[in-house]
Amino acid sequence: MPRDRKNADNLPTLTVIAGPTAVGKGTVVRELIQRYPSVYLSVSATTRPPRPGEIDGIHYHFVSEEEFSRRAAAGEFLEWALVHGKYRYGTLRQPIEEALADHRPAILEIDLDGVRQVKNTMPDAQFIFVAPPSWDELVARLVGRGTEGPEERERRLRTARTEMAAADEFDLIVVNDEVNRTVGELATLMRLT
Ligand code: 5GP
Repeated sequence: MPRDRKNADNLPTLTVIAGPTAVGKGTVVRELIQRYPSVYLSVSATTRPPRPGEIDGIHYHFVSEEEFSRRAAAGEFLEWALVHGKYRYGTLRQPIEEALADHRPAILEIDLDGVRQVKNTMPDAQFIFVAPPSWDELVARLVGRGTEGPEERERRLRTARTEMAAADEFDLIVVNDEVNRTVGELATLMRLT
């Protein structure tokens, strides 16, 4: 992998985004990609089954436990982690390397465990934490989206507490108070505007 991960203007080209469950990272990142289609969004592999409406190869590469283990052993992941203590999620190394080689800005949306791994392997990346306006608002968003049952919600909120406590490990914190504004702030931080 090339050591120089900065583009011609010496700007970081890899942005790593993390934040607690239901903070709206997915929505914000999808909107950013719509506005700036040159940005490469990493499609992770996961052992989690698809939610209704999720498409293989678009939202995730949905793989079996065996397939995930095979890819991990083959060194295909830049990082991978067991998220919410249940399913494995991993960033495929090759598409990221290709995007960066093309000087395309790239985004990873991964959990804290993954962030800590990428900090070691890609120290020049820009690490951004997406925070909710408040804890109560985060709980309201999780309940409101209604995609998890009470048990899964509790599990996710436990992880969220740990993640919130790690916000100062990041280069920058962006409060997702309103999607449009947050996307604008991210675009500025990624120097897309
Ligand atoms: P969900 O199941 O809601 O799609 O995602 C759950 C969590 O998995 C999210 O917080 C997301 O950041 C994390 N995640 C998604 N893809 C990856 C990945 O490739 N690596 C890591 N470490 N975490 C990921």
